[in-house]
Amino acid sequence: MNHSKDPFQSALKVQEAIPQPPSVNPAWKKGHKQELLPIDTYIEGILSGNRVILSKAITLVESYLPEHRALAQQIIERCLPYTGNCIRIGITGIPGAGKSTFIESFGTFLTHQGHKVAVLAIDPSSQRTKGSILGDKTRMESLSVDQNAFIRPSPSAGSLGGVAQKTRESMMLCEAAQFDVIIVETVGVGQSETAVHSMVDFFLLLMIAGAGDELQGIKRGIMEMADALMINKADGDNLSAAQRAQASYKSALRIFPQPPSGWNPQVEIMSALENKGVEKVWDMIIDYLNTTKQNGYFQQKRNEQNQSILLESIKDNLLSGFFSHPVLKTALKTTEKKLLSGQVNPYVAAENLLNLYFEQLKS
Ligand code: GDP
Repeated sequence: MNHSKDPFQSALKVQEAIPQPPSVNPAWKKGHKQELLPIDTYIEGILSGNRVILSKAITLVESYLPEHRALAQQIIERCLPYTGNCIRIGITGIPGAGKSTFIESFGTFLTHQGHKVAVLAIDPSSQRTKGSILGDKTRMESLSVDQNAFIRPSPSAGSLGGVAQKTRESMMLCEAAQFDVIIVETVGVGQSETAVHSMVDFFLLLMIAGAGDELQGIKRGIMEMADALMINKADGDNLSAAQRAQASYKSALRIFPQPPSGWNPQVEIMSALENKGVEKVWDMIIDYLNTTKQNGYFQQKRNEQNQSILLESIKDNLLSGFFSHPVLKTALKTTEKKLLSGQVNPYVAAENLLNLYFEQLKS
């Protein structure tokens, strides 16, 4: 364009020939690709408790990009020696039971006592709702600005197994960043309680009075996993209903077999909203830790958790290696066709496919 013909041409006018930088980093638009830092920056940042660096490292842990995964693995490896000296608490309960209100008051109570609290979430519904727990910024208002707290929403993609693994790894990083109380929250509606139970020391079930067991989606198995049942919203007109629920849950628990921890699960009432009875949870946890550290159960449980992570991880890697191998994908399809027309025995076919896979690995 010849600007000399433009009567409004001025020296201040931006020339077309000068390319303008985009207002948003294009790399960010393409799936929040973050700039990688040198590994030592991550390690030093995490070990000194820098929450911004911790957040960046967790983003790597949550990523599915191979270069991010590789770096994340190195970071975790180097942080491992600094993990393990913390209390891991799992919290579950139906939506509306008061989990975030409780974590807000419980977490604040702990930070006032000098603890550093990290809150993570496992949310199996997050694929559909884009993070229904911890995703809402208005939740945990004061804890989210507390210098001694770190709140991280659930990774929003992947299978429950994948999300659980990422939460475990994030937990390691939080521990290395000197957080001594880790809270893992989940919605009590499905498989995720088992996943959370398998990564924590103490498992708390939050309930409300008046909602039947079926309504609360609480199965007997989940009650059996719980180290404590807290009946929330024990305030105002709801107080006596909460007390009645406490009595009936206490008697329900009596018929359960003695748990291997040697600790008798407690049933208490509280009001997370009015901040009443929240400290009872901490007393219980301290009591639980004393009992289980003395009788050896604490360490035994952590050892068992590590063993099952090892086995699960082998299984996951074998399965994904097998099913994503291009030669095996084709062979499996062919075998399935033959199976349908009765040409092969499924047991023999499975063995043949496995042999083919191991041959492929050698070549
Ligand atoms: P979550 O879905 O389990 O995280 O539940 P929320 O913490 O978001 O709480 C759901 C609703 O119950 C909110 O309106 C809270 O204000 C209310 N709530 C939570 N705890 C209490 C409590 O102790 N007493 C009363 N009365 N309401 C509460």
